[in-house]
Amino acid sequence: MARRFTRSFTQQEPLSEAAIEAAVAVLRHGRLHRYNLAEAEAGEVALLEEEFAGFTGARFALAVASGGYALACALRALQVRPDEPVLTNAFTLAPVPGAIASLGARPVLVEVTPDLVIDLDHLEARIAETGARVLLLSHMRGHICDMDRLMAICDGAGVRVIEDCAHTMGAAWNGVASGRHGAMACYSTQTYKHLNSGEGGLLISDDPELMARAVLLSGSYMMYPRHRAAPAPEVFEGLWTEVPNVSGRMDALRAAILRPQLADLPGRIVRWAGLYRALENGLRASPGLALIERPAAESFVGSSFQARLPDWTPDRIEALVARCAARGVELKWFGAAQPQGFTSRYAHWGYAAPEPLPRTDRVLAGLIDLRLPLTFTPEDCRVIAEILDEEIRRDSPRSI
Ligand SMILES: *Cc1c(COP(=O)(O)O)cnc(C)c1O
Repeated sequence: MARRFTRSFTQQEPLSEAAIEAAVAVLRHGRLHRYNLAEAEAGEVALLEEEFAGFTGARFALAVASGGYALACALRALQVRPDEPVLTNAFTLAPVPGAIASLGARPVLVEVTPDLVIDLDHLEARIAETGARVLLLSHMRGHICDMDRLMAICDGAGVRVIEDCAHTMGAAWNGVASGRHGAMACYSTQTYKHLNSGEGGLLISDDPELMARAVLLSGSYMMYPRHRAAPAPEVFEGLWTEVPNVSGRMDALRAAILRPQLADLPGRIVRWAGLYRALENGLRASPGLALIERPAAESFVGSSFQARLPDWTPDRIEALVARCAARGVELKWFGAAQPQGFTSRYAHWGYAAPEPLPRTDRVLAGLIDLRLPLTFTPEDCRVIAEILDEEIRRDSPRSI
Protein backbone atom coordinates (compact mmCIF):
# COMPACT_ATOMS: atom_id res chain seq x y z
CA MET A 1 0.00 0.00 0.00
CA ALA A 2 1.14 3.55 -0.70
CA ARG A 3 2.78 5.29 2.21
CA ARG A 4 0.60 7.75 4.11
CA PHE A 5 1.60 10.82 6.13
CA THR A 6 -0.32 10.98 9.39
CA ARG A 7 0.84 14.13 11.16
CA SER A 8 -1.06 17.44 11.34
CA PHE A 9 -0.04 20.41 9.20
CA THR A 10 -1.62 22.79 11.71
CA GLN A 11 -0.34 21.48 15.04
CA GLN A 12 2.12 23.91 16.65
CA GLU A 13 4.51 23.03 19.42
CA PRO A 14 3.27 23.42 23.01
CA LEU A 15 4.51 26.52 24.82
CA SER A 16 7.75 26.19 26.76
CA GLU A 17 7.73 25.82 30.54
CA ALA A 18 9.22 29.34 30.77
CA ALA A 19 6.24 30.75 28.82
CA ILE A 20 3.76 28.78 30.92
CA GLU A 21 5.36 30.03 34.14
CA ALA A 22 5.30 33.62 32.90
CA ALA A 23 1.60 33.25 32.02
CA VAL A 24 0.77 31.78 35.42
CA ALA A 25 2.58 34.61 37.17
CA VAL A 26 0.40 37.14 35.32
CA LEU A 27 -2.75 35.15 36.14
CA ARG A 28 -1.77 35.04 39.81
CA HIS A 29 -1.36 38.81 40.15
CA GLY A 30 -4.26 39.60 37.82
CA ARG A 31 -2.84 42.77 36.25
CA LEU A 32 -3.68 41.85 32.67
CA HIS A 33 -4.17 45.36 31.27
CA ARG A 34 -0.88 46.77 30.01
CA TYR A 35 -1.23 49.98 32.03
CA ASN A 36 -2.33 48.22 35.22
CA LEU A 37 1.08 48.20 36.91
CA ALA A 38 2.34 47.85 40.44
CA GLU A 39 4.80 50.38 41.85
CA ALA A 40 8.02 50.34 39.78
CA GLU A 41 6.71 47.51 37.57
CA ALA A 42 7.52 47.89 33.85
CA GLY A 43 4.89 45.37 32.74
CA GLU A 44 5.16 42.47 30.31
CA VAL A 45 3.91 44.48 27.31
CA ALA A 46 6.44 47.31 27.68
CA LEU A 47 9.22 44.76 28.20
CA LEU A 48 8.17 42.81 25.11
CA GLU A 49 8.24 46.04 23.09
CA GLU A 50 11.70 46.87 24.38
CA GLU A 51 12.96 43.38 23.55
CA PHE A 52 11.37 43.36 20.10
CA ALA A 53 12.92 46.74 19.29
CA GLY A 54 16.26 45.23 20.32
CA PHE A 55 15.65 42.11 18.22
CA THR A 56 14.95 44.08 15.04
CA GLY A 57 17.30 46.99 15.73
CA ALA A 58 14.44 49.51 15.53
CA ARG A 59 14.29 52.57 17.80
CA PHE A 60 10.63 52.03 18.67
CA ALA A 61 8.20 49.10 18.98
CA LEU A 62 4.52 48.79 19.85
CA ALA A 63 2.57 45.62 20.70
CA VAL A 64 -1.05 45.48 19.52
CA ALA A 65 -4.05 43.18 19.24
CA SER A 66 -3.27 41.54 15.87
CA GLY A 67 -1.14 41.74 12.75
CA GLY A 68 -4.09 43.12 10.82
CA TYR A 69 -4.54 45.81 13.48
CA ALA A 70 -0.84 46.71 13.13
CA LEU A 71 -1.29 47.17 9.35
CA ALA A 72 -4.30 49.48 9.69
CA CYS A 73 -2.58 51.34 12.54
CA ALA A 74 0.49 51.98 10.35
CA LEU A 75 -1.73 53.25 7.52
CA ARG A 76 -3.51 55.58 9.97
CA ALA A 77 -0.18 56.77 11.37
CA LEU A 78 0.76 57.73 7.80
CA GLN A 79 -2.58 59.57 7.64
CA VAL A 80 -3.94 57.66 4.67
CA ARG A 81 -7.25 59.28 3.68
CA PRO A 82 -10.50 57.76 2.42
CA ASP A 83 -10.37 57.05 -1.34
CA GLU A 84 -6.60 57.44 -1.39
CA PRO A 85 -4.84 54.81 -3.54
CA VAL A 86 -2.57 52.48 -1.54
CA LEU A 87 -0.26 50.14 -3.43
CA THR A 88 0.11 46.51 -2.39
CA ASN A 89 1.25 43.29 -4.06
CA ALA A 90 -1.54 41.11 -5.43
CA PHE A 91 -0.12 37.94 -3.87
CA THR A 92 -0.81 38.36 -0.18
CA LEU A 93 -3.25 37.36 2.53
CA ALA A 94 -6.72 38.94 2.74
CA PRO A 95 -6.01 41.06 5.88
CA VAL A 96 -3.60 43.20 3.82
CA PRO A 97 -6.09 44.63 1.29
CA GLY A 98 -8.56 44.41 4.18
CA ALA A 99 -6.51 46.85 6.27
CA ILE A 100 -6.48 49.31 3.35
CA ALA A 101 -10.23 48.91 2.84
CA SER A 102 -10.85 49.40 6.59
CA LEU A 103 -9.78 53.05 6.19
CA GLY A 104 -11.98 53.54 3.16
CA ALA A 105 -8.81 53.76 1.06
CA ARG A 106 -8.42 52.05 -2.31
CA PRO A 107 -6.10 49.03 -2.72
CA VAL A 108 -4.07 49.27 -5.94
CA LEU A 109 -2.76 45.79 -6.69
CA VAL A 110 0.69 45.23 -8.20
CA GLU A 111 1.69 42.12 -10.19
CA VAL A 112 3.94 39.43 -8.71
CA THR A 113 6.76 37.58 -10.43
CA PRO A 114 7.20 33.80 -10.78
CA ASP A 115 9.55 34.12 -7.76
CA LEU A 116 6.50 35.30 -5.76
CA VAL A 117 7.74 38.83 -5.10
CA ILE A 118 6.33 42.18 -6.17
CA ASP A 119 7.05 43.03 -9.82
CA LEU A 120 9.17 46.17 -9.52
CA ASP A 121 8.61 47.31 -13.11
CA HIS A 122 4.87 47.12 -12.59
CA LEU A 123 5.27 48.93 -9.27
CA GLU A 124 6.98 51.83 -11.06
CA ALA A 125 4.19 51.92 -13.64
CA ARG A 126 1.49 51.85 -10.94
CA ILE A 127 3.15 54.69 -9.01
CA ALA A 128 3.25 56.81 -12.18
CA GLU A 129 -0.34 55.91 -13.06
CA THR A 130 -1.97 56.51 -9.64
CA GLY A 131 0.28 59.01 -7.87
CA ALA A 132 0.01 56.78 -4.77
CA ARG A 133 2.17 57.93 -1.85
CA VAL A 134 2.03 54.72 0.24
CA LEU A 135 3.06 51.11 -0.51
CA LEU A 136 1.93 48.37 1.87
CA LEU A 137 4.50 45.76 0.86
CA SER A 138 3.67 42.22 1.91
CA HIS A 139 6.59 39.78 2.16
CA MET A 140 4.08 37.04 1.45
CA ARG A 141 5.17 33.52 2.48
CA GLY A 142 8.55 34.99 3.38
CA HIS A 143 9.70 35.85 -0.16
CA ILE A 144 11.64 39.12 -0.13
CA CYS A 145 12.07 41.21 -3.30
CA ASP A 146 15.21 43.18 -4.16
CA MET A 147 14.74 45.64 -1.29
CA ASP A 148 17.56 47.90 -2.44
CA ARG A 149 15.89 48.48 -5.79
CA LEU A 150 12.43 48.71 -4.23
CA MET A 151 13.55 51.41 -1.80
CA ALA A 152 15.35 53.31 -4.59
CA ILE A 153 12.10 53.32 -6.61
CA CYS A 154 9.95 54.35 -3.66
CA ASP A 155 12.35 56.96 -2.25
CA GLY A 156 12.75 58.42 -5.74
CA ALA A 157 8.99 58.76 -6.12
CA GLY A 158 8.26 59.96 -2.58
CA VAL A 159 6.37 56.75 -1.73
CA ARG A 160 6.42 55.72 1.96
CA VAL A 161 6.76 51.97 2.54
CA ILE A 162 5.02 49.93 5.24
CA GLU A 163 6.39 46.39 5.40
CA ASP A 164 4.05 43.52 6.22
CA CYS A 165 6.47 41.12 7.93
CA ALA A 166 3.90 38.54 9.04
CA HIS A 167 6.08 35.87 7.35
CA THR A 168 9.52 37.48 7.72
CA MET A 169 10.03 37.92 11.46
CA GLY A 170 13.75 37.13 11.82
CA ALA A 171 14.46 37.26 8.07
CA ALA A 172 16.81 39.71 6.31
CA TRP A 173 17.76 41.17 2.93
CA ASN A 174 21.47 41.83 2.36
CA GLY A 175 22.04 41.61 6.10
CA VAL A 176 19.35 44.20 6.94
CA ALA A 177 16.50 42.79 9.04
CA SER A 178 13.19 42.51 7.23
CA GLY A 179 11.10 45.43 8.48
CA ARG A 180 14.05 47.83 8.66
CA HIS A 181 13.79 49.17 5.11
CA GLY A 182 10.45 50.97 5.20
CA ALA A 183 9.00 53.73 7.39
CA MET A 184 7.14 51.19 9.55
CA ALA A 185 6.84 47.41 9.71
CA CYS A 186 4.12 45.12 11.03
CA TYR A 187 4.34 41.59 12.45
CA SER A 188 1.78 39.03 13.57
CA THR A 189 2.03 36.76 16.60
CA GLN A 190 -1.00 34.76 15.57
CA THR A 191 -0.70 30.99 16.05
CA TYR A 192 0.33 30.18 12.46
CA LYS A 193 3.18 32.73 12.29
CA HIS A 194 6.63 32.73 13.91
CA LEU A 195 5.62 33.42 17.52
CA ASN A 196 2.39 32.09 18.99
CA SER A 197 0.16 34.12 21.30
CA GLY A 198 -3.08 33.03 19.66
CA GLU A 199 -3.62 36.55 18.36
CA GLY A 200 -1.31 39.55 18.50
CA GLY A 201 0.77 41.99 16.50
CA LEU A 202 3.87 44.18 16.68
CA LEU A 203 4.82 47.37 14.92
CA ILE A 204 8.27 48.97 14.62
CA SER A 205 9.60 52.27 13.33
CA ASP A 206 12.51 54.68 13.73
CA ASP A 207 10.27 57.69 13.09
CA PRO A 208 9.25 59.43 16.35
CA GLU A 209 6.14 61.13 15.01
CA LEU A 210 4.81 58.01 13.23
CA MET A 211 5.38 55.90 16.33
CA ALA A 212 3.83 58.47 18.67
CA ARG A 213 0.77 58.45 16.43
CA ALA A 214 0.69 54.64 16.46
CA VAL A 215 0.91 54.52 20.27
CA LEU A 216 -1.96 57.02 20.61
CA LEU A 217 -4.00 55.17 17.97
CA SER A 218 -3.53 51.88 19.81
CA GLY A 219 -5.35 53.33 22.82
CA SER A 220 -2.66 54.67 25.13
CA TYR A 221 -4.81 57.49 26.60
CA MET A 222 -2.32 59.62 28.57
CA MET A 223 -0.37 56.56 29.70
CA TYR A 224 2.23 56.78 26.93
CA PRO A 225 5.07 57.63 29.35
CA ARG A 226 4.75 54.01 30.60
CA HIS A 227 6.10 52.74 27.28
CA ARG A 228 9.79 51.93 27.18
CA ALA A 229 10.27 51.61 23.41
CA ALA A 230 8.29 54.71 22.42
CA PRO A 231 9.35 58.29 21.60
CA ALA A 232 9.89 60.79 24.44
CA PRO A 233 6.70 62.31 25.97
CA GLU A 234 7.40 65.69 24.26
CA VAL A 235 6.78 64.08 20.87
CA PHE A 236 3.23 63.25 21.96
CA GLU A 237 2.43 66.76 23.12
CA GLY A 238 1.23 68.25 19.87
CA LEU A 239 -0.45 65.02 18.82
CA TRP A 240 -2.69 63.70 21.55
CA THR A 241 -5.63 66.01 20.83
CA GLU A 242 -5.44 65.27 17.13
CA VAL A 243 -4.97 61.48 16.95
CA PRO A 244 -8.05 59.33 17.61
CA ASN A 245 -8.04 56.36 19.98
CA VAL A 246 -8.68 53.26 17.82
CA SER A 247 -8.34 50.83 20.68
CA GLY A 248 -6.23 47.74 19.92
CA ARG A 249 -3.73 47.18 22.74
CA MET A 250 -1.98 43.95 23.63
CA ASP A 251 -2.53 42.50 27.12
CA ALA A 252 0.02 41.29 29.67
CA LEU A 253 -0.86 37.61 29.31
CA ARG A 254 0.00 37.47 25.64
CA ALA A 255 3.13 39.56 26.10
CA ALA A 256 4.24 37.23 28.91
CA ILE A 257 4.10 34.15 26.67
CA LEU A 258 5.73 35.98 23.76
CA ARG A 259 8.86 37.14 25.58
CA PRO A 260 10.38 33.65 26.11
CA GLN A 261 9.39 32.71 22.54
CA LEU A 262 11.20 35.74 21.14
CA ALA A 263 14.33 34.65 22.99
CA ASP A 264 13.98 31.21 21.34
CA LEU A 265 13.31 32.52 17.83
CA PRO A 266 16.86 32.30 16.42
CA GLY A 267 16.97 28.58 17.28
CA ARG A 268 13.54 28.03 15.78
CA ILE A 269 14.64 29.68 12.53
CA VAL A 270 17.52 27.19 12.28
CA ARG A 271 15.05 24.31 12.76
CA TRP A 272 12.71 25.72 10.09
CA ALA A 273 15.64 25.92 7.66
CA GLY A 274 16.27 22.20 8.22
CA LEU A 275 12.65 21.35 7.41
CA TYR A 276 12.58 23.59 4.36
CA ARG A 277 15.79 22.21 2.88
CA ALA A 278 14.72 18.59 3.49
CA LEU A 279 11.50 19.19 1.56
CA GLU A 280 13.23 21.15 -1.20
CA ASN A 281 15.93 18.51 -1.68
CA GLY A 282 13.29 15.79 -1.89
CA LEU A 283 11.55 17.65 -4.72
CA ARG A 284 14.58 18.71 -6.79
CA ALA A 285 14.01 16.02 -9.42
CA SER A 286 10.20 16.15 -9.60
CA PRO A 287 9.17 16.47 -13.24
CA GLY A 288 7.03 19.49 -14.06
CA LEU A 289 7.54 21.12 -10.66
CA ALA A 290 9.28 24.53 -10.56
CA LEU A 291 11.00 25.27 -7.27
CA ILE A 292 11.33 28.87 -6.11
CA GLU A 293 15.09 29.53 -6.00
CA ARG A 294 15.95 31.78 -3.06
CA PRO A 295 18.35 34.67 -3.81
CA ALA A 296 21.68 34.69 -1.96
CA ALA A 297 20.85 38.12 -0.49
CA GLU A 298 17.73 36.75 1.18
CA SER A 299 17.87 35.08 4.56
CA PHE A 300 14.41 33.66 5.12
CA VAL A 301 12.32 31.80 7.68
CA GLY A 302 11.27 28.47 6.16
CA SER A 303 7.94 28.14 7.96
CA SER A 304 6.13 27.33 4.72
CA PHE A 305 7.06 26.00 1.28
CA GLN A 306 5.85 27.01 -2.18
CA ALA A 307 6.42 25.58 -5.62
CA ARG A 308 4.80 26.02 -9.04
CA LEU A 309 3.26 23.62 -11.51
CA PRO A 310 3.60 25.78 -14.62
CA ASP A 311 1.19 25.03 -17.44
CA TRP A 312 -0.75 22.36 -15.52
CA THR A 313 -4.49 22.59 -16.17
CA PRO A 314 -6.77 23.25 -13.17
CA ASP A 315 -8.20 19.72 -13.47
CA ARG A 316 -4.78 18.11 -13.18
CA ILE A 317 -3.84 20.25 -10.16
CA GLU A 318 -7.16 19.57 -8.48
CA ALA A 319 -6.63 15.85 -8.96
CA LEU A 320 -3.07 16.10 -7.59
CA VAL A 321 -4.29 18.00 -4.51
CA ALA A 322 -6.93 15.30 -3.94
CA ARG A 323 -4.43 12.42 -4.36
CA CYS A 324 -2.00 14.08 -1.93
CA ALA A 325 -4.81 14.77 0.56
CA ALA A 326 -5.80 11.09 0.42
CA ARG A 327 -2.22 10.31 1.50
CA GLY A 328 -2.25 12.87 4.32
CA VAL A 329 -0.34 15.66 2.55
CA GLU A 330 -2.26 18.94 2.73
CA LEU A 331 -1.42 21.10 -0.27
CA LYS A 332 -2.95 24.53 -0.52
CA TRP A 333 -3.57 25.73 -4.05
CA PHE A 334 -3.81 29.42 -4.94
CA GLY A 335 -5.49 28.65 -8.27
CA ALA A 336 -8.71 27.23 -6.80
CA ALA A 337 -11.89 28.77 -8.18
CA GLN A 338 -13.27 29.46 -4.69
CA PRO A 339 -11.41 30.59 -1.55
CA GLN A 340 -10.67 27.68 0.79
CA GLY A 341 -9.55 27.79 4.41
CA PHE A 342 -7.15 30.72 4.76
CA THR A 343 -6.30 30.72 1.04
CA SER A 344 -7.89 33.27 -1.26
CA ARG A 345 -6.47 35.24 -4.15
CA TYR A 346 -6.87 38.80 -5.27
CA ALA A 347 -9.71 38.10 -7.70
CA HIS A 348 -11.86 37.11 -4.70
CA TRP A 349 -11.46 40.53 -3.01
CA GLY A 350 -14.46 42.23 -4.60
CA TYR A 351 -14.17 45.25 -2.28
CA ALA A 352 -10.77 46.00 -3.82
CA ALA A 353 -12.35 46.14 -7.31
CA PRO A 354 -9.42 44.16 -8.69
CA GLU A 355 -8.51 44.54 -12.34
CA PRO A 356 -7.17 41.38 -13.97
CA LEU A 357 -3.42 40.90 -13.52
CA PRO A 358 -2.40 38.42 -16.20
CA ARG A 359 1.13 37.73 -14.92
CA THR A 360 -0.10 37.15 -11.37
CA ASP A 361 -2.91 34.94 -12.68
CA ARG A 362 -0.40 32.73 -14.47
CA VAL A 363 1.72 32.40 -11.34
CA LEU A 364 -1.16 31.73 -8.93
CA ALA A 365 -2.86 29.26 -11.28
CA GLY A 366 -0.04 26.77 -10.63
CA LEU A 367 1.02 27.75 -7.11
CA ILE A 368 0.98 25.16 -4.35
CA ASP A 369 1.77 25.86 -0.72
CA LEU A 370 2.56 23.74 2.34
CA ARG A 371 2.83 24.69 5.99
CA LEU A 372 5.86 23.45 7.92
CA PRO A 373 5.04 23.53 11.64
CA LEU A 374 7.94 22.88 14.01
CA THR A 375 6.21 19.72 15.20
CA PHE A 376 7.56 18.22 11.93
CA THR A 377 11.03 16.66 11.71
CA PRO A 378 13.31 16.69 8.65
CA GLU A 379 12.37 13.01 8.22
CA ASP A 380 8.69 14.04 8.05
CA CYS A 381 9.63 16.48 5.31
CA ARG A 382 11.38 13.73 3.37
CA VAL A 383 8.21 11.62 3.56
CA ILE A 384 6.06 14.57 2.42
CA ALA A 385 8.43 15.16 -0.52
CA GLU A 386 8.34 11.47 -1.44
CA ILE A 387 4.53 11.40 -1.49
CA LEU A 388 4.28 14.63 -3.47
CA ASP A 389 6.94 13.46 -5.93
CA GLU A 390 5.20 10.12 -6.46
CA GLU A 391 1.85 11.78 -7.06
CA ILE A 392 3.38 14.29 -9.49
CA ARG A 393 4.96 11.42 -11.41
CA ARG A 394 1.66 9.57 -11.47
CA ASP A 395 0.35 12.49 -13.50
CA SER A 396 3.28 13.39 -15.68
CA PRO A 397 2.96 11.50 -18.98
CA ARG A 398 6.68 11.67 -19.85
CA SER A 399 7.84 9.96 -16.68
CA ILE A 400 5.56 6.91 -16.86
C1 LIG B 1 -1.51 36.57 9.15
C2 LIG B 1 -1.17 37.64 8.21
C3 LIG B 1 -1.54 38.96 8.46
C4 LIG B 1 -2.44 39.39 9.58
O1 LIG B 1 -2.13 38.91 10.81
P1 LIG B 1 -3.25 38.62 11.93
O2 LIG B 1 -2.44 38.63 13.17
O3 LIG B 1 -3.88 37.32 11.61
O4 LIG B 1 -4.22 39.76 11.88
C5 LIG B 1 -1.11 39.93 7.58
N1 LIG B 1 -0.37 39.61 6.50
C6 LIG B 1 -0.03 38.35 6.21
C7 LIG B 1 0.79 38.08 5.00
C8 LIG B 1 -0.43 37.32 7.04
O5 LIG B 1 -0.12 36.06 6.75
